[in-house]
Amino acid sequence: MDFEPTETQQVIRNQVSELCNKFPPNYWREKDRKKEYPTEFVDALTRAGWLAALIPEKYDGPGLGMLEAGIILEEINHSGAVATPCHAQMYTMGAILRHGSEVQKEKYLPKIAKGEIRLQSFGVTESEAGSDTTQIKTFAKKKGGDYVINGSKIFISRVQHSDMMLLLARTTPRDQVEKRTMGLSLFLVDLRSAIGNGITANLIETMVNHETNELVIQDLIVPGENLVGEEGRGFYHILDGMNAERILVAAECIGDSYWFIEKATSYAKNRVVFGRPIGQNQGIQFPIADAYARVSAANLMRYKAAARFDQSKECGEEANMAKLLASEALSKAAEVAMTTYGGYGLATDMDVERKFRESRLYVVAPVTNNMVLSYIADHVLGLPRSF
Ligand SMILES: Cc1cc2nc3c(=O)[nH]c(=O)nc-3n(C[C@H](O)[C@H](O)[C@H](O)COP(=O)(O)OP(=O)(O)OC[C@H]3O[C@@H](n4cnc5c(N)ncnc54)[C@H](O)[C@@H]3O)c2cc1C
Repeated sequence: MDFEPTETQQVIRNQVSELCNKFPPNYWREKDRKKEYPTEFVDALTRAGWLAALIPEKYDGPGLGMLEAGIILEEINHSGAVATPCHAQMYTMGAILRHGSEVQKEKYLPKIAKGEIRLQSFGVTESEAGSDTTQIKTFAKKKGGDYVINGSKIFISRVQHSDMMLLLARTTPRDQVEKRTMGLSLFLVDLRSAIGNGITANLIETMVNHETNELVIQDLIVPGENLVGEEGRGFYHILDGMNAERILVAAECIGDSYWFIEKATSYAKNRVVFGRPIGQNQGIQFPIADAYARVSAANLMRYKAAARFDQSKECGEEANMAKLLASEALSKAAEVAMTTYGGYGLATDMDVERKFRESRLYVVAPVTNNMVLSYIADHVLGLPRSF
């Protein structure tokens, strides 16, 4: 498999990089310090059409592939920016594209493509269920042509900077379904009317500048026409989107990793202590070289996963391995950069500490690396299920 970029991919990389350069480190430092949403950056990406990458031309999108979408997110993080405030706009619409009715596709996809609707929010996690999604308690009860939804969610991101949210809820109690993965359904919720009218969003402070919320859902009325796909099969509908999400998250990790390695390399060449550049010491240069080798290997897996996705081949194994390897390579690269910078690694104006904090999220979300290992053990190697 050849992973040399095509001319189009190189043009995309250059254009995204050019856009990102208009948002210098100081912009991100200020956003981080004030815990503000990077509205100007997200607007610029939206106007340029990059967040619509995966929407087919039939629905007014550019119809790019997973390889290109990954390059866009990689380049954002490689520039020193962070893609998490808006990356879900790229892939959350996949549930509508793959499982929505033609009416839903016509109604929403062109507007998402134009940036007129932000579908950036995806409500799955609940505090009691955690990684065991089939244990969620939020329940949607049919009433006439509508659903009335009650429950709660935790760590739901970008709710306050999104117009719509995909919400997973039970429609049949767990003890009444044959398989625990059945009886869950997916809904499109219009946040513009739901906030304050069925949904209360409480911001959760975290170690990163990432808007994430606890949601209290009380008698939220969702019209029946907003059910996405088949009632009771929502779990399977979200599974279909997870490979895309994992490949794209892996690409972000790769971008961050190269940012750390370039920063560390440059600093190690220029910082002189004991009369020589610190990078002359093997204790400094070997960890940087090791991090570079690890991210390069993870990058190959990410390209393989994306290429298989674009060829419509089964890619669960590769997508999961790409997410695992890339997030681990990133943790290593982040740690190495911190060590190389010595005390200056902790100074905010070097940006290393901010990126270091941001790098931690990818180990946990959208899925923890233990769950990824469990997938590989069970689905790929055929080991007995542990839960
Ligand atoms: C900033 C942020 C943003 C997020 N955004 C969203 C969002 O937009 N939408 C959304 O739905 N969710 C979101 N999440 C939630 C995220 O997906 C979950 O936090 C994550 O899936 C883990 O769930 P948990 O925190 O409940 O961990 P738990 O399930 O409680 O797990 C805790 C630890 O135990 C390990 N563990 C649990 N069971 C096993 C087992 N059987 N074997 C081995 N290890 C195990 C886990 O791997 C983990 O390391 C976000 C989280 C954060 C922190």
